[in-house]
Amino acid sequence: MKNLKLTASRPDLLRSVIDVCGVKVGKDFFVIAGPCSVESEAQTIATAIAVKKAGAKMLRGGAFKPRTSPYAFQGLGLKGLKILDKAKKETGLPIVTEVVDTRDVSWVGEYADVLQIGARNMQNFSLLREVGKSGKPILLKRGMYSTVEEWLNCAEYILAEGNPNVILCERGIRTFETYTRNTLDLSMIPAVHTESHLPILVDPSHGTGILSMIEPMSLAALIAGADGLEIEVHVDPSTALSDKDQQLTPEQFTLLMEKITLLREFMAGLGPKAEAAVAGKAADSNLEAAFSDAVD
Ligand code: PEP
Ligand code: MN
Repeated sequence: MKNLKLTASRPDLLRSVIDVCGVKVGKDFFVIAGPCSVESEAQTIATAIAVKKAGAKMLRGGAFKPRTSPYAFQGLGLKGLKILDKAKKETGLPIVTEVVDTRDVSWVGEYADVLQIGARNMQNFSLLREVGKSGKPILLKRGMYSTVEEWLNCAEYILAEGNPNVILCERGIRTFETYTRNTLDLSMIPAVHTESHLPILVDPSHGTGILSMIEPMSLAALIAGADGLEIEVHVDPSTALSDKDQQLTPEQFTLLMEKITLLREFMAGLGPKAEAAVAGKAADSNLEAAFSDAVD
């Protein structure tokens, strides 16, 4: 890909590891969870405690919401950031929250551990430059009409300002398919790992918009090599002020986290087992037998 001076994969193939308050993004698989929007202190703190208990490593929550309609809930702004700060003090979870305006970057950055750039702002170049100057870890979501090359060039804007702390997030794109809210493009996980050294997360909540699809897409993302997930969880989704149909309850999220742990254990065991089985069978070149041993 052209012009990716800082974002392209390195000759030594080393991948970036981004430290967010001790969470090593790009090294160990991890999950960001929390409500679509910060709505109240009670809702945010109850959700934060629940997702932490289930094993989430960071808390998400929008204080500034880029909504399709100007009349829809726009977020609590500064009040929301203060609530997130309380939730951080309560749980110790680092905060991931969206910034939508260049004028807000520095003060939102006082509350956020990771600044999120949403899909609608992926190509807002002045915002990209401003978060680049902030030096803070940035979660850069893929624009809904963007190619991987356009997406990586947006990461390049941030790196070019001297900020190497960019985490990409695949959240689905618009296609002719209307069954799902977006078409979650899991093929971007290996594509990004081939083209760039930056870590990539997957957001199955906005990526599907369908509750029952969040678990299978999360597990598929893990298998495809994602560095982590961003998932919407609400203590009482039926009352949510935004995205009420795609937010997991704490109980559903806990179950998903248990499955993720089991799948990670299986995958960790599969590597050495497969290698040993293939080595053992190499003598008689019986790869089919080697494979069936490996998945026993
Ligand atoms: C979000 O994560 O809160 C959000 C608005 O997502 P996206 O920008 O991917 O639509
Ligand atoms: Mn949402």
